[in-house]
Amino acid sequence: MILPRPHIAKLAPYALADRGAPTSISLSQNESAFPASPRALAAGRAALDEVGLYPDPDWTDLRTALEAAYDVSAANIVCGAGSMELIACLLECYAGPGADVLGTEFGYLYVASVAAQIQARHVTVTEPDLTVSTDNLLRALSPDTKLVFVCNPGNPTGTLIPNAQIVKLRDQLPDDVMLVVDQAYGEFSDELEPPGEIFALVERGNTCVLRTLSKAYGLAGQRLGWGLFPPDVGREMRKILRPGGVTGVSLAMGQAAVEDVVYMRGVVQNTSLVRDQFAARCIDLGIAVPASHTNFVLLPFATEKVCRHVANHLQDKGFIGRAMSGYGLPNAYRITIAAQDIMDKVADHLKEALQ
Ligand SMILES: *Cc1c(COP(=O)(O)O)cnc(C)c1O
Repeated sequence: MILPRPHIAKLAPYALADRGAPTSISLSQNESAFPASPRALAAGRAALDEVGLYPDPDWTDLRTALEAAYDVSAANIVCGAGSMELIACLLECYAGPGADVLGTEFGYLYVASVAAQIQARHVTVTEPDLTVSTDNLLRALSPDTKLVFVCNPGNPTGTLIPNAQIVKLRDQLPDDVMLVVDQAYGEFSDELEPPGEIFALVERGNTCVLRTLSKAYGLAGQRLGWGLFPPDVGREMRKILRPGGVTGVSLAMGQAAVEDVVYMRGVVQNTSLVRDQFAARCIDLGIAVPASHTNFVLLPFATEKVCRHVANHLQDKGFIGRAMSGYGLPNAYRITIAAQDIMDKVADHLKEALQ
């Protein structure tokens, strides 16, 4: 009998969202309410003519576009097949057996999954009021802490902490502890908390910032993430990353999407409007929705039973959100914001379910 290594055998499969019946509308994976930019779609179609060739392993044109759009240095950018790949790579480079990877209670579950794969210890601290507490992170440091993960805005909470708190966290962390700021939803909060201050932390040599094309840019299916890394961190990452892991079609689509900043800002604005209206209707129904700075809302219900009843009712009507028991929030349901007409129906069905 062929046996895997014991720590792999013990792992549970990574829990992905329930996709529901093929006819149901998925509100479970925080995919964009809107299609990708028409320019990105056209660039993707054109790039099909070159699928016989390996892609540019240096992501040159995409990095140039990101440099211009985000006012960052292309030299610090590393791209991956989704930011999930970059998260895995960071842990493989900087943690392992005996290392602590520190995060928050409602941080991204994928970090915990990779920590288990590499036999590092995943340690979490509580998030009072569903919000990251940098003080709690500092209190939980150990001599074994190698990496600290902060997701801002948070998923699945949607809450945002000010940049100043992250800068202060960096100031107070030991220099040999890597801080990773996951800004998968950053495009939804950049106006409120301009990211320059966070991007600048990368210059200190021990901070990385992660972004993705999966959310605001509507390219989840293309698997394209990027991040800012200090130059020597980027060098280590590139030893581990599979060369050419980002396809040529993805690179072309990503570049065109990033260059179409007007379209992306429109998507963010529209999504945020629909979100705020939907959240207001939920609050009217007595649900204590935390203020969201993302493309989803978290609905905490009074009890697990109510939550399950609502989820079942929505599912019967053809809408699938995401149950949150994996995050230790069995009372809560997360709903991705879709187009206005869909969210109006979801709010109507929520009301029926709660009557
Ligand atoms: C969606 C998401 C990501 C990005 O995943 P990709 O691999 O880029 O699709 C990263 N972190 C969080 C918290 C997310 O919600």
